Amino acid sequence: MDTLQQRLAAVRRRIATAADRAHRDPAGIMLLAVTKIFPAQVVRDAYALGLREFGENYVQEFEGKLPQLGDLAAARFHLIGHLQSNKCARAAEMFDCIQTVDSPKLARRLNQAGKPLDILLEVKLSPEQGKAGAPPEELPDLIAAVRECPNLRLLGLMTMPPWSADQEQSRPYFQRLHELAGRHGLPQLSMGMSHDLEAAIEEGATIVRVGTALFGKRRKP
Ligand SMILES: *Cc1c(COP(=O)(O)O)cnc(C)c1O
Repeated sequence: MDTLQQRLAAVRRRIATAADRAHRDPAGIMLLAVTKIFPAQVVRDAYALGLREFGENYVQEFEGKLPQLGDLAAARFHLIGHLQSNKCARAAEMFDCIQTVDSPKLARRLNQAGKPLDILLEVKLSPEQGKAGAPPEELPDLIAAVRECPNLRLLGLMTMPPWSADQEQSRPYFQRLHELAGRHGLPQLSMGMSHDLEAAIEEGATIVRVGTALFGKRRKP
Protein backbone atom coordinates (compact mmCIF):
# COMPACT_ATOMS: atom_id res chain seq x y z
CA MET A 1 0.00 0.00 0.00
CA ASP A 2 1.31 3.44 -0.82
CA THR A 3 1.77 6.14 1.80
CA LEU A 4 0.30 9.62 1.99
CA GLN A 5 3.77 10.93 1.20
CA GLN A 6 3.88 8.90 -2.04
CA ARG A 7 0.36 9.90 -3.03
CA LEU A 8 1.18 13.55 -2.37
CA ALA A 9 4.28 13.28 -4.54
CA ALA A 10 2.16 11.72 -7.31
CA VAL A 11 -0.43 14.53 -7.13
CA ARG A 12 2.30 17.16 -7.18
CA ARG A 13 3.78 15.48 -10.27
CA ARG A 14 0.37 15.50 -11.98
CA ILE A 15 0.00 19.22 -11.20
CA ALA A 16 3.51 19.98 -12.46
CA THR A 17 3.03 17.99 -15.67
CA ALA A 18 -0.29 19.66 -16.48
CA ALA A 19 1.13 23.10 -15.64
CA ASP A 20 4.08 22.41 -17.91
CA ARG A 21 1.78 21.42 -20.78
CA ALA A 22 -0.17 24.66 -20.28
CA HIS A 23 3.06 26.73 -20.00
CA ARG A 24 2.09 27.74 -16.49
CA ASP A 25 4.13 28.09 -13.30
CA PRO A 26 2.97 25.32 -10.90
CA ALA A 27 3.61 27.75 -8.03
CA GLY A 28 0.48 29.58 -9.19
CA ILE A 29 -1.67 26.52 -8.48
CA MET A 30 -2.80 25.88 -4.92
CA LEU A 31 -3.26 22.27 -3.87
CA LEU A 32 -6.28 22.28 -1.57
CA ALA A 33 -6.32 19.03 0.43
CA VAL A 34 -9.93 17.92 0.85
CA THR A 35 -10.18 16.20 4.23
CA LYS A 36 -13.96 15.88 4.62
CA ILE A 37 -15.07 12.70 6.40
CA PHE A 38 -11.48 11.92 7.43
CA PRO A 39 -10.45 12.34 11.08
CA ALA A 40 -8.40 15.26 12.38
CA GLN A 41 -5.30 13.07 12.44
CA VAL A 42 -5.36 12.95 8.64
CA VAL A 43 -5.20 16.75 8.56
CA ARG A 44 -2.28 16.61 10.98
CA ASP A 45 -0.46 14.01 8.85
CA ALA A 46 -0.94 16.14 5.73
CA TYR A 47 0.25 19.23 7.58
CA ALA A 48 3.38 17.38 8.68
CA LEU A 49 4.10 16.72 4.99
CA GLY A 50 3.87 20.42 4.19
CA LEU A 51 0.24 20.88 3.13
CA ARG A 52 -1.26 24.11 4.47
CA GLU A 53 -4.62 24.61 2.74
CA PHE A 54 -7.49 22.28 3.66
CA GLY A 55 -11.00 21.89 2.29
CA GLU A 56 -13.96 20.74 4.37
CA ASN A 57 -17.59 20.29 3.33
CA TYR A 58 -19.61 20.16 6.51
CA VAL A 59 -19.69 22.89 9.18
CA GLN A 60 -20.82 20.45 11.85
CA GLU A 61 -18.23 17.80 11.05
CA PHE A 62 -15.46 20.39 11.05
CA GLU A 63 -16.64 21.70 14.41
CA GLY A 64 -15.68 18.31 15.85
CA LYS A 65 -12.23 18.31 14.27
CA LEU A 66 -11.09 21.91 14.72
CA PRO A 67 -10.30 21.64 18.47
CA GLN A 68 -7.69 19.01 17.56
CA LEU A 69 -6.07 21.29 14.98
CA GLY A 70 -5.52 24.47 16.97
CA ASP A 71 -1.73 24.08 17.08
CA LEU A 72 -1.35 23.89 13.27
CA ALA A 73 -0.51 27.58 13.16
CA ALA A 74 -0.13 27.98 9.41
CA ALA A 75 -3.13 25.87 8.37
CA ARG A 76 -5.92 27.59 6.44
CA PHE A 77 -9.36 26.09 6.12
CA HIS A 78 -11.73 26.48 3.18
CA LEU A 79 -15.41 25.61 3.23
CA ILE A 80 -16.18 23.90 -0.08
CA GLY A 81 -19.57 22.39 0.77
CA HIS A 82 -22.98 24.03 0.63
CA LEU A 83 -23.54 26.56 3.42
CA GLN A 84 -26.92 27.11 5.05
CA SER A 85 -27.57 30.65 6.19
CA ASN A 86 -28.23 29.57 9.79
CA LYS A 87 -24.65 28.24 9.95
CA CYS A 88 -22.94 31.38 8.61
CA ALA A 89 -21.79 32.74 11.96
CA ARG A 90 -20.20 29.45 12.95
CA ALA A 91 -18.65 28.98 9.51
CA ALA A 92 -17.18 32.48 9.58
CA GLU A 93 -15.54 31.74 12.92
CA MET A 94 -13.97 28.48 11.83
CA PHE A 95 -12.98 29.01 8.20
CA ASP A 96 -10.55 31.37 6.47
CA CYS A 97 -12.13 31.09 3.05
CA ILE A 98 -15.70 30.31 1.98
CA GLN A 99 -15.77 28.97 -1.58
CA THR A 100 -19.49 28.34 -1.84
CA VAL A 101 -21.16 31.75 -1.61
CA ASP A 102 -24.06 31.68 -4.05
CA SER A 103 -26.51 34.34 -2.86
CA PRO A 104 -26.44 37.96 -1.62
CA LYS A 105 -28.20 36.78 1.55
CA LEU A 106 -25.38 34.35 2.35
CA ALA A 107 -22.80 37.08 1.69
CA ARG A 108 -24.54 39.50 4.04
CA ARG A 109 -24.84 36.86 6.78
CA LEU A 110 -21.14 36.07 6.52
CA ASN A 111 -20.28 39.75 6.56
CA GLN A 112 -22.32 40.24 9.73
CA ALA A 113 -20.08 37.78 11.56
CA GLY A 114 -17.51 40.57 11.60
CA LYS A 115 -14.46 38.52 10.68
CA PRO A 116 -12.41 39.12 7.51
CA LEU A 117 -13.02 36.26 5.06
CA ASP A 118 -11.77 35.27 1.63
CA ILE A 119 -14.69 34.53 -0.67
CA LEU A 120 -15.24 32.55 -3.85
CA LEU A 121 -18.59 32.42 -5.58
CA GLU A 122 -19.91 28.99 -6.49
CA VAL A 123 -21.27 28.99 -10.03
CA LYS A 124 -23.78 26.54 -11.42
CA LEU A 125 -23.13 26.10 -15.12
CA SER A 126 -25.65 23.39 -15.99
CA PRO A 127 -28.97 21.98 -14.75
CA GLU A 128 -27.15 18.70 -13.97
CA GLN A 129 -24.97 20.37 -11.37
CA GLY A 130 -27.31 19.93 -8.40
CA LYS A 131 -28.93 22.68 -6.37
CA ALA A 132 -25.92 24.68 -5.18
CA GLY A 133 -24.33 27.55 -7.05
CA ALA A 134 -25.47 30.80 -8.63
CA PRO A 135 -26.36 30.74 -12.33
CA PRO A 136 -24.02 32.95 -14.41
CA GLU A 137 -26.73 35.53 -15.06
CA GLU A 138 -26.95 36.21 -11.31
CA LEU A 139 -23.22 36.87 -10.98
CA PRO A 140 -23.28 40.65 -11.57
CA ASP A 141 -25.75 41.20 -8.70
CA LEU A 142 -23.98 38.71 -6.47
CA ILE A 143 -20.59 40.31 -7.10
CA ALA A 144 -22.01 43.74 -6.36
CA ALA A 145 -23.53 42.46 -3.10
CA VAL A 146 -20.25 40.88 -1.97
CA ARG A 147 -18.28 44.02 -2.83
CA GLU A 148 -20.55 45.99 -0.50
CA CYS A 149 -19.52 43.76 2.39
CA PRO A 150 -16.45 45.25 4.10
CA ASN A 151 -15.45 41.98 5.77
CA LEU A 152 -15.51 39.94 2.58
CA ARG A 153 -12.62 39.82 0.12
CA LEU A 154 -13.85 38.51 -3.21
CA LEU A 155 -11.15 36.42 -4.90
CA GLY A 156 -12.81 34.37 -7.60
CA LEU A 157 -15.14 31.64 -8.76
CA MET A 158 -15.60 27.96 -7.97
CA THR A 159 -17.47 25.21 -9.79
CA MET A 160 -17.97 21.47 -9.75
CA PRO A 161 -19.02 19.92 -13.07
CA PRO A 162 -21.33 16.88 -13.15
CA TRP A 163 -19.19 13.85 -12.31
CA SER A 164 -17.71 11.93 -15.20
CA ALA A 165 -14.75 9.55 -15.38
CA ASP A 166 -13.73 11.33 -18.58
CA GLN A 167 -11.92 14.63 -17.91
CA GLU A 168 -12.88 15.92 -21.31
CA GLN A 169 -16.48 16.09 -20.10
CA SER A 170 -15.38 18.58 -17.43
CA ARG A 171 -13.32 20.76 -19.74
CA PRO A 172 -16.14 22.90 -21.21
CA TYR A 173 -17.25 23.79 -17.66
CA PHE A 174 -13.72 24.85 -16.77
CA GLN A 175 -13.50 26.96 -19.92
CA ARG A 176 -16.79 28.60 -19.08
CA LEU A 177 -15.71 29.42 -15.52
CA HIS A 178 -12.45 30.90 -16.80
CA GLU A 179 -14.33 33.08 -19.25
CA LEU A 180 -16.74 34.30 -16.52
CA ALA A 181 -13.90 35.11 -14.12
CA GLY A 182 -12.15 37.07 -16.86
CA ARG A 183 -15.27 39.01 -17.66
CA HIS A 184 -15.70 39.99 -14.00
CA GLY A 185 -12.02 40.63 -13.32
CA LEU A 186 -11.66 37.86 -10.73
CA PRO A 187 -8.21 36.24 -10.39
CA GLN A 188 -8.93 32.93 -8.64
CA LEU A 189 -10.44 29.83 -10.24
CA SER A 190 -11.24 26.89 -7.95
CA MET A 191 -11.86 23.95 -10.25
CA GLY A 192 -10.60 20.41 -10.75
CA MET A 193 -10.64 17.44 -8.38
CA SER A 194 -8.83 14.10 -8.20
CA HIS A 195 -10.14 12.82 -11.52
CA ASP A 196 -9.99 15.98 -13.63
CA LEU A 197 -7.29 18.27 -12.24
CA GLU A 198 -5.22 18.13 -15.44
CA ALA A 199 -8.02 19.53 -17.60
CA ALA A 200 -8.73 22.17 -14.93
CA ILE A 201 -5.10 23.30 -14.83
CA GLU A 202 -4.95 23.45 -18.62
CA GLU A 203 -8.01 25.70 -18.49
CA GLY A 204 -6.57 28.05 -15.87
CA ALA A 205 -7.34 26.61 -12.41
CA THR A 206 -5.51 28.42 -9.59
CA ILE A 207 -6.94 26.11 -6.88
CA VAL A 208 -7.42 22.37 -7.34
CA ARG A 209 -9.44 20.56 -4.68
CA VAL A 210 -8.07 17.06 -4.16
CA GLY A 211 -9.38 14.44 -1.75
CA THR A 212 -9.40 10.86 -3.01
CA ALA A 213 -6.05 10.98 -4.82
CA LEU A 214 -4.38 12.00 -1.54
CA PHE A 215 -6.34 10.21 1.16
CA GLY A 216 -8.09 7.32 -0.59
CA LYS A 217 -11.77 6.48 -0.75
CA ARG A 218 -14.15 8.10 1.73
CA ARG A 219 -17.07 6.42 3.41
CA LYS A 220 -20.42 8.08 2.66
CA PRO A 221 -21.21 11.10 4.86
C1 LIG B 1 -15.23 16.09 -2.08
C2 LIG B 1 -14.97 17.28 -2.91
C3 LIG B 1 -13.77 17.43 -3.62
C4 LIG B 1 -12.69 16.37 -3.67
O1 LIG B 1 -13.08 15.34 -4.51
P1 LIG B 1 -12.11 14.10 -4.84
O2 LIG B 1 -12.76 13.47 -6.02
O3 LIG B 1 -12.12 13.23 -3.64
O4 LIG B 1 -10.77 14.65 -5.13
C5 LIG B 1 -13.58 18.61 -4.30
N1 LIG B 1 -14.51 19.58 -4.33
C6 LIG B 1 -15.67 19.47 -3.68
C7 LIG B 1 -16.66 20.58 -3.73
C8 LIG B 1 -15.95 18.31 -2.95
O5 LIG B 1 -17.13 18.21 -2.33
